[in-house]
Amino acid sequence: MQIVKELYSGKAKSVYTTDDADRLVLRFRDDTSAFDGRKIEKLAHKGMINNKTNAFVMTQIERAGIPTHFDRLLSDTDSLVKRLEMIPVECVVRNITAGSICRRLGVSENMDLDPPTFEFFLKNDELHDPMVNEYHIRSFGWATDEEVATMKRLTFEVNDVLKRMFLDAGILLVDYKLEFGRFHGQVMLGDEFSADGCRLWDAETRKKLDKDRFRQDLGGVIEAYQEVAARLGVDLG
Ligand code: ADP
Ligand code: UDP
Repeated sequence: MQIVKELYSGKAKSVYTTDDADRLVLRFRDDTSAFDGRKIEKLAHKGMINNKTNAFVMTQIERAGIPTHFDRLLSDTDSLVKRLEMIPVECVVRNITAGSICRRLGVSENMDLDPPTFEFFLKNDELHDPMVNEYHIRSFGWATDEEVATMKRLTFEVNDVLKRMFLDAGILLVDYKLEFGRFHGQVMLGDEFSADGCRLWDAETRKKLDKDRFRQDLGGVIEAYQEVAARLGVDLG
């Protein structure tokens, strides 16, 4: 497998085409961004930690029978994935209130949500990722009804797998964002699962172990990402 050229460079990852038209390389960089790219910093080792954590989590998700784009780790910072036609919406599940839902609905942080709630956001930094509903997704042709149903089903299936996995590691899965795409017509999980795209709190102390440490200038960002990886049993080498 050979890298051919850079296809896209996002806020945290670079994407490369390969000599196989169906495969891409995702390179996890140390760049860390928040507030739609208005706050940016390089955090040493973040790319490696997220690449390896993502590989571990994607493998657990696959084992549970949920289709993902992940093929294999290529190096500390690179992974081989299936090339998806991405669906431009973010699927967010919340088990506990935090972040934007508190601002939007005036609810306090740290409320348990039973059942968990689900939200779609349009992936568009210029518009600050506005919340959209299933009618928008259908009317603007971003995905079909069947694909919407599949994304919701798979996102909740991921919740069952990961809530248990994190709880076993003494961590609460507060909320998370997933992105899906099509591979020869089949909807599967793409992008990444790492502490950059979810909220993880220590189950005892509720200490934040995710990107909120960066957003809120709490310090110890990389140490928290390392702690999550260590508790899950991810081999960081
Ligand atoms: P952003 O685009 O939000 O700045 P990243 O820096 O993480 O985010 O860039 C990675 C990009 O690659 C994202 O736009 C994501 O949708 C896209 N992507 C992730 N997985 C795949 C895949 N398997 N096939 C095609 N594109 C993908
Ligand atoms: N999230 C993400 N990328 C985005 C928006 C949100 O990974 O572009 C994640 C975020 O890390 C959190 C969850 O989705 O785990 C819900 O985010 P929220 O809507 O609360 O927005 P925030 O306040 O984090 O901007």
